[in-house]
Amino acid sequence: MGIQIDLDKCVGCGDCVPVCPFGLLEIVDDKVQLKEGCTLCGACQEACAYEAIFIESVPETEVVSAGHQGVWVFAEQRDGRLKTVAYELLAKGRELADSLKTELSAVCFGHRIDEVNQLIAYGADKVYLVDSPDFVNNPEDMFTRQLIELIQQHKPDIVIAGATSLGRSFIPRVAAVLGTGLTADCTGLEIDNETGLLLQTRPTFGGSVMADIVCQAKRPQMSTVRPRVFKKGVPDKKRQGQIIRVDFDKERITSRTKLISFIEDITETVKLDEADIIVSGGRGIGKPENFQLLGELARVMGAALGSSRPPVDEGWIPYHHQVGQTGKTVRPKLYIACGISGSVQHMAGMQTSETIVAINDDPNAPIFEIATYGIVGDLFKVVPMLIAKLKNE
Ligand code: FAD
Repeated sequence: MGIQIDLDKCVGCGDCVPVCPFGLLEIVDDKVQLKEGCTLCGACQEACAYEAIFIESVPETEVVSAGHQGVWVFAEQRDGRLKTVAYELLAKGRELADSLKTELSAVCFGHRIDEVNQLIAYGADKVYLVDSPDFVNNPEDMFTRQLIELIQQHKPDIVIAGATSLGRSFIPRVAAVLGTGLTADCTGLEIDNETGLLLQTRPTFGGSVMADIVCQAKRPQMSTVRPRVFKKGVPDKKRQGQIIRVDFDKERITSRTKLISFIEDITETVKLDEADIIVSGGRGIGKPENFQLLGELARVMGAALGSSRPPVDEGWIPYHHQVGQTGKTVRPKLYIACGISGSVQHMAGMQTSETIVAINDDPNAPIFEIATYGIVGDLFKVVPMLIAKLKNE
């Protein structure tokens, strides 16, 4: 696969030059020339009206591992309790499986996991359950081995998992060993009606482009998705399904690592990615002390405190409060954005919130385009008024 330039067709118009995000194109002697470093983004191909630039595509290869079918969701748990992301992925997995007219299976590893039946109520037809005391602390290398074995045995067509710290760590290893592709941090998953392939959407080029990625030849097609990107479905307690207990082979599946301790971050009173209400501050806050004002609003409302990236970069607030493309994805019932302009990177992490209230003194701030309610004003006047009202002062 590579970029090709047909110099006979090139008229030297230069339309392709400004669209290259890396400035790799130039016109020399009325013909386009490409410098090294092309990422095959395709922008120049689209800009060329003379079809002089094209990306030579991969020859259609046969699907390497034919006979794969079914959609699998890795259902993550901690301390025996299923994580919300497992239910969110089941809702999406159900849609994908229905589009492909195939089965949806959940795969769950752990020990003494509560309410495995819930995975069926939330859409799974089958649950592959591996229960072992060796799995208490979510050992990543053992999970890698176990998931590879199950995939090799049952040959699913699609495998999706949460882009949590566990998923981000072990799912790429599974994909690497299986020699298949993995699209990390997807924000959308759909089945392409024509090809039946999984369209894996994720932001790229700093969030300015949404790329649809397909895994043409290898199986399974694998993706990770951040918590809160998809909406949890409604459980149906009457759904019937099968729980398949898989024997754990202690001799073969071993770990080279030992978890000494797990230290939970208890600095947040309300966890950002689980909060129903988030009060978030941006550069408009001005200085670190002013987060106390937002902290008070958050306390009065029982909300978590969020932030855009600049306050984190400035060291005003720790990273785990950051919302956005390189922070957390949140989907609260209410998101209050104070002094946040609404960059694509910030909105990528909060735009699916049910209700968005924006407080900004610039009426043209992009955040107002997605806000349910917009308050044009100085946050240092508006926020104290809100606090007083909520406290009934
Ligand atoms: P600004 O854009 O500076 O906006 C500040 C706003 O405050 C302005 O609209 C202003 O009108 C308003 N304001 C000022 N004073 C007041 C006042 N007294 N009362 C009311 N309003 C006031 N950003 C993220 O947030 N999250 C990410 O995860 C993230 N990831 C990124 C990843 C990449 C690869 C890149 C390139 C960028 C990323 N960014 C991210 C940064 C992003 O591009 C923006 O720079 C950032 O979101 C801007 O933050 P902001 O809205 O707080 O600041």
